[in-house]
Order: sequence, then structure tokens, then C-alpha cells
Amino acid sequence: MHYFDNAATTKPYAEAMHTFNKVNEEYYFNTASIHKAGRDSAKLLEASRKQILQVFGLPHYQCVFTSGATESNNIALQGMLRRKKRFGRTILVSELEHPSVINILDHHQKEGFKVKFIRTTEAGRVDVDHLKSLLDEDVILVTVMAVNNIIGSVQPVEEIREALTDYPKVHFHVDATQAVGKVRFNYDGVDSVSISAHKFHGVKGAGALMLKEIKAAEPIHYGGGHEFDIRSGTVNLPAVTAMAKALRLSVEGMSNDKERLKDFNRMIREEMEALRSITIQPSGVPHIINLSFTGAKGEVVVNALSEKNVMVSTTSACASKRATSNETLTAMGVDKEVIDGSIRISMSKDTTHRDVKMLIRSLKEVYEEIGDVLK
Ligand code: PMP
Repeated sequence: MHYFDNAATTKPYAEAMHTFNKVNEEYYFNTASIHKAGRDSAKLLEASRKQILQVFGLPHYQCVFTSGATESNNIALQGMLRRKKRFGRTILVSELEHPSVINILDHHQKEGFKVKFIRTTEAGRVDVDHLKSLLDEDVILVTVMAVNNIIGSVQPVEEIREALTDYPKVHFHVDATQAVGKVRFNYDGVDSVSISAHKFHGVKGAGALMLKEIKAAEPIHYGGGHEFDIRSGTVNLPAVTAMAKALRLSVEGMSNDKERLKDFNRMIREEMEALRSITIQPSGVPHIINLSFTGAKGEVVVNALSEKNVMVSTTSACASKRATSNETLTAMGVDKEVIDGSIRISMSKDTTHRDVKMLIRSLKEVYEEIGDVLK
């Protein structure tokens, strides 16, 4: 199988699996138990917390463990909006956000919050000048992703943080899910940052919300109060320790992978750009390529590639089961026909030269097979 859907999820590192299995066997205790086994497990939990914050260069932040970025985004945004609604009602959000952000805001709009969308440039980046023009005393939240999950555009996180320095009332949330192990950002000063372990070769079911101030967040469900009274429920220690391991490895391996992925990116682009009716979107990271078979349907291309044992996706896995249009491409002003024919190819450290050759060969075969519908 040739796997090109790493933006949906990645294969765990062998080392992360080793950590997961070992902790599952030797520290399966509840980190909230006060006996020695529980306390030893809690020590491991705290070591993982410290390590994660260290890797992000945020030792002065707090880190709440969650089940993944969906939960982290929910805790950050829902709790924050509840706390800040007496200061204002306006939320500024990029048009590029993941459903786990957009759908929270949709819901809050019905409850009287005002959601304003920050424009996107043709390159799929948040337009910072437009953001600045939307800032006023009623704004309480700005939420932007660090790397887009559909085309891989890198967002101006640091520039936005600078633009917000005169607005101390504004909470700045960054969904860094697709950035970890791919692009280094300075998150210092950002109010909250979400991550998800399975996007950087950890195991599924673990994520984190890093917070400048712990009191910025509020629980969205109630229970024993395990994680700072913010996230109740027995902590998934094996997955959390595996996440800390995967995070270190993915950040350490970042520069090694980059050149190889750039070469793969170049190979795919060169071969596909030569073909009529193929449109390739701009990107910012080498491991994501969004290309369109203009005139065809993206699902048809995905299924035809899948028959050849090559796995790609249409949009994000979270949206592909619904008949939604692709918000990122729409926001960039891409033609509907191009959007309909688009597929996402996403690579990782595990992608090999042979995978890329097979992908290119299969893309060309599919191109021939469906040639009559292409524009
Ligand atoms: N944000 C972004 C940008 C994502 O790509 C994803 C996963 N597709 C999420 C949030 C949600 O992550 P999870 O499914 O791990 O909760």
C-alpha cells in the first residue's frame, strides 16, 4: 500500500508504540490514585507535560491533556467564550479553519456571538491587514490555524500575535494540529494552542491544550476534575507518554525529512504540471499537495487511485464524509470545477521514493482513464 493521507493520520513511531505498550503494562494505574503505583504514574504524567512544554519552548505555560485537537479546540473556545462574553461578543476567525473550530462558532453565533471571517489571500493565507481592519473593542477572540490541512499553507501566527498586542482583552487561539513536526513557530504569547498526537506519529486518543494562563479555560464536561479541573476523566497515560516521545522525535527529525519531502514534492509537481487540465494549488509545506483534475470529481480520482493501492483523500477526512464544499479552496477564490476535481496528497517521514514513483505512475494512469471528462 502506498499511503498519501498523512494529514488525516500518521503511522505511529515504533518508539512511541514501545512507550505506549510499556506504560500500558507497567504503569496502568490511575494517575489520580494516591497509592504509590498511582503516584509513580502521576510522576510520568508530569514528566510528559514538562517535556511537551519544553519542546514547544513554553515552559511557563500549562498543558492540559485531552483526547485530541477536537477536544482541545472545544475546551479552549467554549470555556473562553463563556468567560469573556461580558467583555464583548465579536469573534474573528479565518475562513480556513477546521470543522472543530467552525462548528463551535456556528453554535455560539446562535447564542448571540458575532462571528466575522478574516479574508484569505489567493495563496491561502490569512490576510493580516484585513484582520487589523476588523479589530475593535468588542473583539474577544481571534482563532487561526498554524498550517492549513487542505493545501498546507503556513499562517502568519507571529504577525497576528503582534497585531493583537494593543488588544489585551482578545484571546488568541491557534490550532497547531497540522504544524507539529513540520513548521517551527514561536507560540510564546499565544493564549492557547491545540495539538493532536496522531498527526505526528503518536497514537490516537491523545492531544493537548497548551495555555498561557490556566484560568483562560473552563470545563466542557464535568467529573472528577483530573486535569486542573478543566478536563475530567481518567488520563490516558500510555497515549500521553507516547505523544511526548513522538513529539520529541518528530521535532528532532524535522530538518532531515524536509529536504527529502521537498524533492518528492518537486517530482510530483513537475510530472503533474506537464499535464493539461491539472491545477496545483500553492502550498507552504512540502508534504501537502492539493491538485485538481479539472472536469472530474475528486471522489472518482480518489477511488481510482485506491484501486491501484494508492491512498489519497479529497478534502480533510473530517469533512469528506459530508457533501460539503471545500471551504479552504472556496475562500481562496478557486473555481468550482477545480474544487470539485481536487484531491489532497499528504506525505510524511514514512513516504519513500518508491511510494512517490507509484503515486506518479498511478496519477498518470487515472489521468488517461478519465481523460474524456477533463476540461
Ligand atoms: N484541526 C486540524 C487543523 C485538523 O487537521 C484536525 C484533524 N483533521 C483537527 C483539528 C482535529 O483533530 P482530531 O481529529 O485529532 O481531534
